[in-house]
Amino acid sequence: MNLHEFQGKELLKSYGVAIQEGIVATTVEEAVAAYHQLREQTGTEAAVVKAQIHAGGRGKGGGVKLAKNEAGVREHAGNILGMMLRTPQTPGGMEGPGKLVRKVLVAEDAYRPDFDACKEFYVSILTDRERKCNVIIYSTEGGMDIETVAEETPHLVHKEYIDPALGLQGFQARKVAFNLGLGGQAFKQMVKFISSLYKAFVGADATLFEINPCLKTPDDRIVAVDCKVSLDDNALYRHADLAAMRDTDEEDPTEVEAKNHDLNYVKLDGNVGCMVNGAGLAMATMDIIKLSGGEPANFLDVGGTADAARVEQAFRIILKDPAVKAILINIFGGIVRCDRVAQGVVDACKNMGNINVPIIVRLQGTNADIAKKIIDESGLAVHSAILLREAADLVKKVLA
Ligand code: GDP
Ligand code: MN
Repeated sequence: MNLHEFQGKELLKSYGVAIQEGIVATTVEEAVAAYHQLREQTGTEAAVVKAQIHAGGRGKGGGVKLAKNEAGVREHAGNILGMMLRTPQTPGGMEGPGKLVRKVLVAEDAYRPDFDACKEFYVSILTDRERKCNVIIYSTEGGMDIETVAEETPHLVHKEYIDPALGLQGFQARKVAFNLGLGGQAFKQMVKFISSLYKAFVGADATLFEINPCLKTPDDRIVAVDCKVSLDDNALYRHADLAAMRDTDEEDPTEVEAKNHDLNYVKLDGNVGCMVNGAGLAMATMDIIKLSGGEPANFLDVGGTADAARVEQAFRIILKDPAVKAILINIFGGIVRCDRVAQGVVDACKNMGNINVPIIVRLQGTNADIAKKIIDESGLAVHSAILLREAADLVKKVLA
């Protein structure tokens, strides 16, 4: 689950990480009120108005604007709220439809009083799966696309691996500050920043923190100006406060519906819808679809209980995607019996009436032969197969 910038900053602040202060707003009037409150609090005359969507690169799309005064805040909030913001990271990129901006963060001008005397760094934390530990990735080249920095000047991207048993050691935080070229007060502030940031990462069960830019101010404070936070869905049960930050407006509506029904669904770009029990079998099914010349339209794991109600729900979700030209159901009857699943498929099809795409059902395991009979005799336009190869060939045939 991803957080908005303003939510991520709230999380960081609760762990003592210094942030660019800001207040979120959903209307122009709220934005102006936020500006005044912020000016009281921080003494900021200039403020930055930042679109809150689940995508980075907002600055490039006109979603981050500096306002010199109240009139500027009013103008920028008016322009940004309700806009379809295109960034390199929104669906379809700068050529795509963009994402609707529903909220803005009005934040203090963190670069005051002297923009040029500030220094932008890059800091992120994530898990390195190969090394099986967390890693802090950091660079002196902040504020820009880290992928570009890594490609063009790889020697400027540093990594600090954290031993999971020991946690972040003091010397490691100092090494980060040193490699960023800091001394004196700024060095101390960076050590504190990195230590608190790491505590927040572990404490929140996060999978990604990306602070870009992480700012050194002219008076040697270290401040998170932007933050991208992704949390581990599987750990959300122990963070009710963070789970409540979910913004389903930002998520794929079909994926949200699937989640509400406890179905593991990920939308993909192809035309063959898949309904499978078990994540491993779902992956293998997508492979076989590709091998037979098709492209999977989704990943869908219906889990252990593929009864009629669940199959029907899965059908509804798959069929929401207009690109789907065929559906491949691949169920292994281990705990659940194949004849039950077959009956479920037949009932769901009858119940839903007009399913206009061909359906290929491959049932293997307990009572597979009875299942095939149920499907073949149902009178529905459902093709049955017992071998996965047969199923793949059927997919190819119906798509041809
Ligand atoms: P992103 O484009 O989605 O990554 O959004 P950021 O929060 O990183 O903002 C984009 C850029 O806006 C930053 O790299 C800064 O150069 C600039 N920016 C952000 N906050 C401020 C601010 O408080 N003052 C000034 N002058 N510039 C800012
Ligand atoms: Mn950024």
